Amino acid sequence: MIPIIRPDLSFDEVADDLRKVIESGQLTCGGKVVEFENQIAATVGVKHAVATTSATTALHLVLAAKGIGAGDEVLVSDFSFPASANAIIQTGAVPVFVDCRPGGFDLDVADAAGKVTARTKAIMPVHPFGMPADIKAIVALAEKHGLFVVEDAACAIGAERDGIRCGGGPGVGCFSFHPRKLITTGEGGAVTTDDDALALRLRLLRSHGGRTGPKVGLEFVENGFNYRMSEIQAVLGLAQMKRLDAILEDRRRTARLYRQELAGMAGITLPQFDIPGSGTFQSFVILLDDGIDRDHVVGAMRAQGVETTLGTYAQHAHPAFARFGHAPGDCPHAWIAQRQSLTLPLLPQMAAETVGSVCRAMERVIAEQAFMPSVKTR
Ligand SMILES: *Cc1c(COP(=O)(O)O)cnc(C)c1O
Repeated sequence: MIPIIRPDLSFDEVADDLRKVIESGQLTCGGKVVEFENQIAATVGVKHAVATTSATTALHLVLAAKGIGAGDEVLVSDFSFPASANAIIQTGAVPVFVDCRPGGFDLDVADAAGKVTARTKAIMPVHPFGMPADIKAIVALAEKHGLFVVEDAACAIGAERDGIRCGGGPGVGCFSFHPRKLITTGEGGAVTTDDDALALRLRLLRSHGGRTGPKVGLEFVENGFNYRMSEIQAVLGLAQMKRLDAILEDRRRTARLYRQELAGMAGITLPQFDIPGSGTFQSFVILLDDGIDRDHVVGAMRAQGVETTLGTYAQHAHPAFARFGHAPGDCPHAWIAQRQSLTLPLLPQMAAETVGSVCRAMERVIAEQAFMPSVKTR
């Protein structure tokens, strides 16, 4: 079976540092996390990175640090993993789902503009699968209405558009180091920002709201969390961050191979190639034409030895968010994207022949689909 993704990480490249960390006895709050944070900040081109236990906790930490909560609204890309909206809900604020660009996966800025109210405090655009959203237009909208920008850059470490690194805009960026992302620490995340005061507050809240003072022990000045990354995780992340440029180049090379192989194939479009700038291709996601049963395609591809899955979710359409008054289809383009998107395998150092065999399997499966009854009315 060809899997969707595999970590670009070997035991040998971390063995020495892991041994040192374990033998030092300092398994958290040490130099490796600081080194990892410095690498992330340098990559994103900002002053501060604050490592966390996940992107979900990074998002929650930021919203809490900005004082967002009950009575507030946060605009959020609908087409995303539900971590995005859940982080908002955990603060007591209401997620307001913004559709994606027609035929694309990134946030439709015009739809966002139409959903701003007097209660809107922030906007959380996703860089879908590491392909940069139109951050210039998003920042312009945010400035017009005084909104804080929280980039959900979970998949976008090293991506860039219009000379701005993803997560390096005027607000904050939140990154994930889950094994489905291109850099992984098992679980892990980070917040990036240029704001000195905010970085301090993020560090305070990350660790129970306690700070050192003249007396023995800590003084607790806020009700914080434990969202700290461990030294062991940072060792894994550092090894990959040192090779980030090569990892990105490798994923982009494979994406180009896919584009060549899939160009002109009936029944599909390649929306990721419409997006300007340089993305990470954390996932390689295509759209199947309406009338092709995506779930059937996933099963048929599995029968051919190829793992595929949906792109991601139209959050508004899931029962957990129904209490905000949504019916499936309220963000129509995200709804289509959830139903018709397909993630193809994109592995480290993926051989051209493997890309070829995935595409030949696609061709066979789509050809079969042409004889299936239409599912448009589903
Ligand atoms: C993976 C992902 C998350 C969640 O990341 P975790 O580190 O697993 O919490 C959030 N948002 C997006 C867009 C993601 O792809």
